[in-house]
Amino acid sequence: MTVTKRFVAGAVCPRCAAMDAIRMYRDEVREYRECVKCGFEDSLRLDGRPEPKEVETRVTRPAQPVETEQAQPIKFVMPAKRKDK
Ligand SMILES: [Zn+2]
Repeated sequence: MTVTKRFVAGAVCPRCAAMDAIRMYRDEVREYRECVKCGFEDSLRLDGRPEPKEVETRVTRPAQPVETEQAQPIKFVMPAKRKDK
């Protein structure tokens, strides 16, 4: 499979702040960014599923409330014997 890496015009590396140093490429499931200056790498899922990652290159997405389960005391009732047959 040939991967075409393309520079993203105007993109600024979130790590080293170099401009026009970000290249993008993708495979079937992810889109990758990499900085040719400092080696920064990032990736995003193409199917848009949320990921605890940094925002995209230029589009700052509104912070979506990710449904994370809060740490709560869970009453863990362990049946001593599991026999429902
Ligand atoms: Zn960089």
